[in-house]
Amino acid sequence: MQDNANRLELTRRHILGLGAGALVGLAAAPAWALVHKVGERSLSFQHLNTSETLSVVYWAEGRYVPEGLREVNHLLRDFRTGEIRQIDPRLLDFLFSLKYRLDTDNPFEVISGYRSPKTNAMLRRHSTSVARNSLHMQGKAIDIRVKGHKPSQIARAARGMKLGGVGTYRRFVHLDAGNVRVWRG
Ligand SMILES: [Zn+2]
Repeated sequence: MQDNANRLELTRRHILGLGAGALVGLAAAPAWALVHKVGERSLSFQHLNTSETLSVVYWAEGRYVPEGLREVNHLLRDFRTGEIRQIDPRLLDFLFSLKYRLDTDNPFEVISGYRSPKTNAMLRRHSTSVARNSLHMQGKAIDIRVKGHKPSQIARAARGMKLGGVGTYRRFVHLDAGNVRVWRG
């Protein structure tokens, strides 16, 4: 597993701040893959099951922002039971990289974040595609959509980053901060 902290992304703001010559030089490398210092990392979410929205800076000035992470943990709680678990910051970096890869300002539409063991067991009774040891139960996985992008497009972009697991489903994409692997649901 790569350490995302060593693979920082260029923000568009920063790209715009560079001269035209620098932009030409950068064109060969995808922006999300460049090792570069970014001032802050932010994410926007819209939870489709609770209707809650969140725009949050979760990393700034070289470190994760505890208050920002708490807000993310709350939004991505098990909405069926209300249980909160810490979401792995590497998953947030995966999303942040994906946001720039897709070049979108649209929020991540959340279908599922953290799942308690009780919720996961309940879902398993109704679906064969829910894993017994789902990374959702460790706060390391999220199911998302993004307006303007088909799940297949989102998954293709995410697979190319090799930052974790990517599962493609008809209506959403599963991303996790586990080992790099891909599958179709
Ligand atoms: Zn999932």
